[in-house]
Parts: sequence; C-alpha cells; structure tokens
Amino acid sequence: MPELPELTVYRERLQDALEGRRLRRARVHDPFVLRTVEPPLAEIEGRTVTGVGRRAKVLLLELGPGASFTLAFHLMLGGRLVLRDVEGYRPHRRRTLFSAEFEGGPLLEMTEAGTKRKASIRVFGPEGAREITPGTEPLDPPLEAAKLAELLARRNRRLKGALRDSHLLAGIGNAYSDEILFAARLSPLRLTGQLTEEEVKRLAEAIRTVLRDWTERVRRACPEGLPVKQNLWRRNLAIHGRAGKPCPVCGGTVARISFKESETNYCPDCQNEGRLLADRRLSRLGIRRRPPRSSG
Ligand SMILES: [Zn+2]
Repeated sequence: MPELPELTVYRERLQDALEGRRLRRARVHDPFVLRTVEPPLAEIEGRTVTGVGRRAKVLLLELGPGASFTLAFHLMLGGRLVLRDVEGYRPHRRRTLFSAEFEGGPLLEMTEAGTKRKASIRVFGPEGAREITPGTEPLDPPLEAAKLAELLARRNRRLKGALRDSHLLAGIGNAYSDEILFAARLSPLRLTGQLTEEEVKRLAEAIRTVLRDWTERVRRACPEGLPVKQNLWRRNLAIHGRAGKPCPVCGGTVARISFKESETNYCPDCQNEGRLLADRRLSRLGIRRRPPRSSG
C-alpha cells in the first residue's frame, strides 16, 4: 500500500502533470469505485485543475475556477494511478476503475489489482466534507516529541497499532511503521503507556527521519512519472519484508510476527533485547518457536 513517502511523490508528479489543465471527461468504469452521489461526477467536467493536495493517504485533485470541487483518490492496497496518452487509450476490462481525460494532456487512469474492490474516489463540492481523516500529519509541521506524547497518551496500546492508526497519525502503514520502530530501536509490541520520555523523543525523531528519507528515496528511485513500481525502492527497506535475512545493523536474523492480518518485521537484538516476540498466530496453532539467538 502506498504510504506517505509514495503519496507525497504522487502528489508532486500529479501537480506537475495536471495543474492548469481542463478536465474534459471523467469516466467511471466500475460503479463501485465512486463512493459519493452528490455532487455528480458530471459537475467536475470542464473544470480546471487548480492544484493537487494530499491528506493522509488520500490524493486530492482540486478543481476550479471559483467554487472549488475536489476529486479525492484513495488507493488502498492495490489501487494505482497511471498517466497515459489519450490517443489510443483502452481501459483494462477488469483493472480499470476510473479514467479522467485532460485537454491537450494526459489521461489519468485509476486501476486496482486483485478482485477486492477497495480503492475509491469521492467528489466533494464547495461545502463538502473535507475531513478525510483526523490524524496528525507527521511532517507538516514536523512532529515534536511533546505532540507525539500527547497522541500516545490517549490510549495504552501496542506501538505498532498506534503508529498505523490513521486517527492518530496520518499516512503511516505497515511498511514504514516497521522501519520507524527499527530506527527507534523499539519493540512493535511495547505498550505506549510504558515508554520513557527519552523513548518518545527517539520515536518522534525516527518518524520524521524515516518518512523524510524515504520520500527522498522514492523521488530518486522514480525520477519521473508516478511512483507505481514500489518494488524499485521498497526492496531496499531495512527491516520490512526481510524476515529471515540479516539485520543491516547487527547482522542478527530479522524476525516476524503476524499482527492484525499483516506481517510485522523486527530485529530481536536491536529492538527487543535479543528476545523473540510471541507470534500469536503460531502460538494458537501450537507451533513452538526456535529459541532466540544467544548473542545478547
Ligand atoms: Zn539488529
């Protein structure tokens, strides 16, 4: 799933490609993708793109002039936005959900891999609800330790779940929450209420650094066009998706736990004093884990 670093680059590239262009035609190819009824999609046709924004994991195409309309894209897990030539364009029979044709410019296509229809678009009018998610943006302005402490104090819970909670922090998902916890040397299962002041400071710094660094890495890995091929940079993540491989810091083996239907990766040595965390899925099945490495 694209997270803040990818979506920031999506926003920049869409802004470059579409700002000032008139939307000639908007077409829904799968009726399920459009989750709003009012205002109708036809209302945005003929309008000009005045800017492209991002709020949490949602990309916002602002359309003017005058009373502004917003076309919001939520890519979810398998959704992608692709810029194509209008000339000779043919939507994919299953994957294409939506397309928008711009005058003298590209065609913006939204596709979704797989069969689950989760990606969506919404149209908001001038008085429409702009509140996409109430979560705090971690980079704009840069998240301070005091603010993070305040967010974490709302409820005592596991760190991994807290970082991914869009009501708390905007734009962080499964991949970058693993990277942040690794950079902060904190266990994904630590309880937010047990963190020391020093640890909250470290975590706030890791959130800022990881998200900034990876935004820059996405820009470099994908110097033009939309950042669709995530594997180009995500294969270089330090810890996420690297179970069984050596930790880039200590050389120990990266471990995994299943957490709310997704996999969390961490280094037992760097993040949990050398101890493996209990994998609840494996515990339920009665599978015993190997003992932890004894490197300390
Ligand atoms: Zn390590």
